[in-house]
Amino acid sequence: MDLFEFQGKELFKRHGIPVPRGIIAQTPESARAATEILGGSSVVKVQVQTGGRGKGGGVVLADSPDEAEAAAARMLAEGFGGRRVTRVLVEERLAIAQEFYAAILLDRATGTDLAMVAAEGGVDIEELARTKPEALRRLHIDPEIGIHPYHLRGLTGALPPEARDLVENILAGLYDVLTKEDATLVEVNPLVLLEDGRVFALDAKVTIDDNALFRQPELEMFKSVHPIDPVEFRAREAGLQYVKLDGQVGIIGNGAGLVMSTLDLVQQAGAGAANFLDVGGGASAEAIATSLEVVLSDPNVRSVLVNIFGGITRCDLVAEGLLEALERIAPAVRIVVRLDGTNAEEGRRILEDARHPVIVPAQTMLEAAKLAAELAEGAAA
Ligand code: GDP
Ligand code: MN
Repeated sequence: MDLFEFQGKELFKRHGIPVPRGIIAQTPESARAATEILGGSSVVKVQVQTGGRGKGGGVVLADSPDEAEAAAARMLAEGFGGRRVTRVLVEERLAIAQEFYAAILLDRATGTDLAMVAAEGGVDIEELARTKPEALRRLHIDPEIGIHPYHLRGLTGALPPEARDLVENILAGLYDVLTKEDATLVEVNPLVLLEDGRVFALDAKVTIDDNALFRQPELEMFKSVHPIDPVEFRAREAGLQYVKLDGQVGIIGNGAGLVMSTLDLVQQAGAGAANFLDVGGGASAEAIATSLEVVLSDPNVRSVLVNIFGGITRCDLVAEGLLEALERIAPAVRIVVRLDGTNAEEGRRILEDARHPVIVPAQTMLEAAKLAAELAEGAAA
C-alpha cells in the first residue's frame, strides 16, 4: 500500500524526522484558513500517488491566503495527472539552501535493505547514478546487523559537512520507519538543508508491506482515505474480491491461489491483467453473473478469462451462471472459459450446447491464458 505524502509525513513525525508544519485541506476555504494559520504564506501540494507534482503544477508556492485558496480550488477541481484529488496539503514555507535525496528500500535481489543518499535532490536517482556517481552513496543493510553510526557516516559522505549529523539522525529515523512500520520503501526527495541550518524532509514516499497490515491496525486506517473505484465498490458490496490492474485481460477465478497463477500465466502469454476477481469458494451462478458484470464494467477489458476449479463449486452451475449473465449483458469482448474439477464435463457440455458466440472454451489453464492474451491483442488492434 502506497501512502499519500501527508500520511508518510505523519509516520516520519512519529519517528522523529523533521517535516514542515502542515494542514490537510479538503476545500479551498480551508486551504486559505490553513495559510493564515501558517503565517500568511504556504506551499499547497496536491495529494496524489504520483511523482512529478512539482513540474506539473501540483506544488504551488502561495504568497497569500488568496493564492493558496485559488491553487487549492484549481487542484480540487481539475485533479492531477488524470486522478481525482480530494485533498491538498498546505505547508509552511521554508527557505531552502540545498536539496538532497535519501531513501531506504527493500532490495529483493539481495534480500537486504538498500540505503541511498545523494547530494542532489529532485532528480531521477538512476540518472544520477549514471551521470554523477560520486554524488550518490549506496549501502546494503544486513537485517541481522541493522544500521549503525559507521553506516550512517559512510552514507552522508557526499553531503556538505554542516548537514551530515542531522541527515544521519534522519536516516536512523527512516530505518526506524522501515522496520517498525513494516515499510518496504521510504523515500525523501527532496531532503533539504534550510538557510538556517536545519534539515527537513520536504516530501515523503512510503510503501507499506500489505502482508504486514494485520499487525499494523493503525496503518490499515490510512487505507480508508484512498478514493474508492466505483467498480471495486460494487464488487465489495457483492462480497467479491476485486482488484483493478492496468492490463487488458479481465480475470475471474475461484480461490486466491488459482487467481494468482492465472495472473502469472496471462503475463507469460504476453498480456497483462486488467483486473482480477476472486469469486471465492462455493461460487453460485448468481456470484458468477455479478462477477462478469463487474469485470466487464472496466473499459480497459479486451477479453475475459474465467478459470474455475470446481470443488464445492460445481462447474455445471458456473456454466449456467455464465449463460444467465450473458442474457442480461451483451459483452463486446470474448470470454475464454476453462472449467475443471467437480462436474467439469457437464459444465463444458452446457457451454458447448449453448454455442454462445462470445464464449471460447479452453481445455487447460495454459491454453486459456494464451487464448485470452491473443483475443485481447486482436481486440486492441
Ligand atoms: P514531487 O515533484 O511530486 O516529488 O513534489 P515535491 O514534494 O518533491 O515538491 C517539488 C518541489 O517543490 C521541491 O523539490 C521543492 O523545490 C519545491 N518545494 C516544496 N516545498 C517547498 C517549500 O517549502 N519551499 C520552497 N522554496 N520550495 C518548496
Ligand atoms: Mn518529491
